[in-house]
Amino acid sequence: MINIAIDGPSGAGKSTIAKIVAKTLGITYLDTGAMYRAVALYVVNCGKNPSSEEDVKPLLNDINISYITDGNEKFICLNGVNVSQDIRRHEMSKYASEVSKIPAVRLFLVEMQRKIAAAEDVVLDGRDIASFVLPNSEFKFYLTAKDTVRAKRRYDELVAKGQQVTYEQILDDVRERDLNDMKRDFAPLVKTADAFEIDSTDMSLTQVADAILNRIKEIQKDSETKISNGEAATPIKSVDSQVNKPIKNKKSKPKHRWFYKGLAAFVRWVMGAVWITKIYFKDNFPKKSKAVVICNHYSALDPCVIISKLLGKNGNVVMKNEITKCQFVANIAEELGAIPIKRGEADVNAIKKVLGALNKNRPVLIFPEGTRNKSNSKEFLPFKQGVATFAIKAKAPIVPMLYYKKTGIFKRNKLMVGAPFWLDGFYNKNIGDVREDATQNILKKMQELRVEMDILVEQCRGSKKRYLRYKKNQSKELCSNVGNGRKK
Ligand code: C5P
Repeated sequence: MINIAIDGPSGAGKSTIAKIVAKTLGITYLDTGAMYRAVALYVVNCGKNPSSEEDVKPLLNDINISYITDGNEKFICLNGVNVSQDIRRHEMSKYASEVSKIPAVRLFLVEMQRKIAAAEDVVLDGRDIASFVLPNSEFKFYLTAKDTVRAKRRYDELVAKGQQVTYEQILDDVRERDLNDMKRDFAPLVKTADAFEIDSTDMSLTQVADAILNRIKEIQKDSETKISNGEAATPIKSVDSQVNKPIKNKKSKPKHRWFYKGLAAFVRWVMGAVWITKIYFKDNFPKKSKAVVICNHYSALDPCVIISKLLGKNGNVVMKNEITKCQFVANIAEELGAIPIKRGEADVNAIKKVLGALNKNRPVLIFPEGTRNKSNSKEFLPFKQGVATFAIKAKAPIVPMLYYKKTGIFKRNKLMVGAPFWLDGFYNKNIGDVREDATQNILKKMQELRVEMDILVEQCRGSKKRYLRYKKNQSKELCSNVGNGRKK
């Protein structure tokens, strides 16, 4: 794993530089300051005091931090909601600095940071990465600059975002936070002896990023020399080889593929036979074209039915990573077109696979609720934002589908395929800014499909003919109302 630690005081340019480094190397960027800000936001939203350990500690149990990914960047979600904008409010800096003094908060977040760093190549920026989070990292940097310059950078940044602040106020804040971060008892901000220090006071962003990238190459070269001299035990992965290189699926193809192919065909057939499902408006289903297909689900077997009756071998389906726990199941799932995804974190591999499938004009089935609806209600669970991200990034239409109610074996289940729609107005925009609104649009479309299906099943007693007649009459009535200049 390549783990790059960039520490330093506020406003030293860590996050901008870390993003450039991550992008150049084609690896992930993790802003650990955002995590402290998210905890602070939660505490303040609960009306509690961010500097009181007594207030903050019990709240940690209610905090769930997860990520959504855009390119190499992770956007932070607090209990499922993207808060990457909210945490940037000026007052959050101060509150984050206060909660960061509480050891329980640090331990809570450091555990997450270490997990992410163990799972993927990542650039982390923060205060204690080299000293506490990843003391064994080979790549440690300490970025600093004069406090007046740092304050000016922060001030410009906040003003550009439309926040009402003065330079003097920001300079005071920066100095106070420096003190807080350096003087706290637990995991304070320090420059470790093995960190490479860069004073960016008079340097441009490109100069700083180049200095870091060159240093990484030097460290790596040193390590290679040591290996060839038989001195070093662990080789460091080539940084050059990482540049813009797509992350490959390291899992090898299973042996006896023909066996799993056969099993997959059998599963398709059995599911089609026992999970009796009436599918309305099947023609709306994309056969061999790019589309993000979405559906609610009540049973773990519902996806199999869609694969069996609609998707066939032409598309893929996003499934939770837990299916890979058992190699046997994972092999069959792979033959069924499954793309396993780790939930609650940025799974770069899975994201690349989904976008790859869409770009190859394959429909990809995703369950926006992220899990099955165990309550069996007609209400939807909160939607995750992945569907919006994929549809916007791939400029793909979304095909909504709906299971009418709780499904089961030999039950005459009902599934409706809605008309495709596009997320017009959301393309060519910063995905982080529009993802939430786009997700609300998708939810609205599913709610509309729910209304349509209720009419089809309840009022028209499941007759497609009656439903089409009903729709025709509705639109006629609408036309005549518009024609008369009357409003209904
Ligand atoms: O980097 P950023 O300004 O977003 O961080 C907000 C606050 O979070 C910092 O002032 C610092 O007190 C705290 N922090 C920390 N350790 C980290 C990252 C941030 O204590 N690794």
